[in-house]
Formats: sequence, structure tokens, C-alpha cells
Amino acid sequence: MRDNPIFATVDFDKDGVQHGHLRLPHSRNDSAWGSIMIPICVIKNGHGPCALFTGANHGDEYEGPLALVSLAQEIDRAKITGRVILLPFMNQPAFAAGTRVSPLDQGNMNRVFPGRPDGTPTQKIADYFQRTLLPMADIVLDFHSGGKTLDFLPFAASHVLDDKDHEARCRAARNAFNAPFSVEMREIDALGMYDDAAETMGKTFVTTELGGGGTTTPETVRIARKGARNLLIHAGILAGTLDLSPTRYLSQPDTSCFHFADEAGLIDFAVNLGDRVQTEDLLARIWDIHHPERAAKVVKAQTDGIVTARHYPGLVQAGDCLTVISVEHAP
Ligand code: ZN
Repeated sequence: MRDNPIFATVDFDKDGVQHGHLRLPHSRNDSAWGSIMIPICVIKNGHGPCALFTGANHGDEYEGPLALVSLAQEIDRAKITGRVILLPFMNQPAFAAGTRVSPLDQGNMNRVFPGRPDGTPTQKIADYFQRTLLPMADIVLDFHSGGKTLDFLPFAASHVLDDKDHEARCRAARNAFNAPFSVEMREIDALGMYDDAAETMGKTFVTTELGGGGTTTPETVRIARKGARNLLIHAGILAGTLDLSPTRYLSQPDTSCFHFADEAGLIDFAVNLGDRVQTEDLLARIWDIHHPERAAKVVKAQTDGIVTARHYPGLVQAGDCLTVISVEHAP
């Protein structure tokens, strides 16, 4: 396997607080010997566990970047045992463009793992995580939100894993993050995800969906900041006590939870995020934008549960995910 071309301006083994960059050579028309500069903060104090926290895996999701820029500035090194690696803008070109995928190669960071050292910019960044950053980490947090096209109830999530001890470790970390909702998440498209790369290495892994629509609210940012701190305390890296509030437990036991549009049109939701619905309840109508005289297409709930996610823009395309319904259960 070839070496990854990324150069880190920080020393991962040095004690102290370092703010630097991952410098990825990117030769292009406006900069012959140019680079992509991905900010990285490393806080290390002695020996202990290592946390790897990322925001902007998708470039139009903002709670993670906001939580991690403030954590990078505020964290007190004297209260740390071990190492914290923060990357607020994981897919920096996508983040700078305000888009889900990278404008350089249309690369979706959460579908390209394990990446390639000789691939496109997004593949090279993924390869650096796969072979350099993830192996250093004990606990991994990857922030997500709905971006411009989805909106979610604010939740932290863990996955069902083959190794039940590993699954319990991830679930405990998810609960320590302590979002208003804690989800056992089913992925509809897991191939190439960072989640899977981290979990395959046995890392304690937590992800989130904290809102969406391509923006934030003060509440979703507060949840993100509190969760990141809680996770460092839970991992034994940051001194302090967990800040805990009540959480509700949700899961997506099968594919009936996911509702897709089979026609394009103008979406007319009948439910809000957080609503409790029963099978056959009206979720939405889709109006034909070329023929307003035609009856709207009706979308009904395929299962009982809580409305956890919804399509965000007013127009839908055939194949769009319209809603996700989760089942609420005891811890
Ligand atoms: Zn995302």
C-alpha cells in the first residue's frame, strides 16, 4: 500500500495543546503546488485513552463543527489524561462549499471508506483516517445532522454489532453523550461508512443526528457541546462529572420504519418530528407540480412509532426518504 500524501503539522505524541493542519497536496489551475488545509487540534497530557472527534463529515451539517471549535479553544489541558484529537471540518472542501459532498470530486466522505492513498481528495482523506487516525483512537465520535435535505429529532446513536460486549460499550458511550433521544440505529446504506470502519477496528463509536435543514438552533448546538464534553468524561480523559438529563430510547427494528417517495412533487406533511403515529395514519401527501388538478399521492405510516426524521425541502424527487419512524422502548 502506498503512503498517504497528507502531512500533519502537529506531533501526535507531544504533550500540550497544538492547533495545526492536515496538509493534502492539491495541484490545480489556481495553485500549481497548492494544498487542502484541514484544521486539526491535538491536546495531550501524559498517558491515557485517545478520543477522535469529527464534525463536517458531510459539509452542510453544523452542530459538530460548532461543538468542536469551542471544545478546541476551551478544553483545559490540565484536566486531560491521555489525548484528544479534534477535526471540526473533516471533509474541509465540502464544508467550505456548504455542500454534503466535496465539490472537488463529488466524494461523499461517509461512503468512501476505507479510501485510497492514490485516489481523489475525499478518498485520500478517508485513507488517512483509516490507516493513521483511527488506529490511534479508543473512542470515536462523528457528528452528523440532516444537512440541507433532512431534519431529525436530536439523537445520539449506536449500532447493533455482532460482538455484544462491543455493542454494549458503544451503547454506554451513546447514553453518556446524553442527547434528548438515544437511538439504536439501522443504516440503510452502510457500505463505505466511517462508522463501519471504526467499529470494524473495535473502537467505541458514537454518531449523532442533531437536527438539520442546513443550519442549527441554539438548542441543537447546546446538545452537541454537552455531548462532546460528556463523552470525554465518560472515556476517563476529561476530569469532571457527567451533565445528564432524561433521554428517550428509540430503535428502528426493520425496514418498515423507512418511508420513501415513489413520485416527485410538492410535499404536504401531516405530521411533525416527535409525533406519535399508528400504522395507516396519514404522514404526507405529494401534489403533482405539473397537474394541480390531479389528486395528491397519499403516504401512510407502515408502522407504529415516533416520527424521527423528515425530508426537509418543499419539493421531493422520486426515491427521496420522506420520513423515518422509530419505536420507543425502555432502556
Ligand atoms: Zn451526515
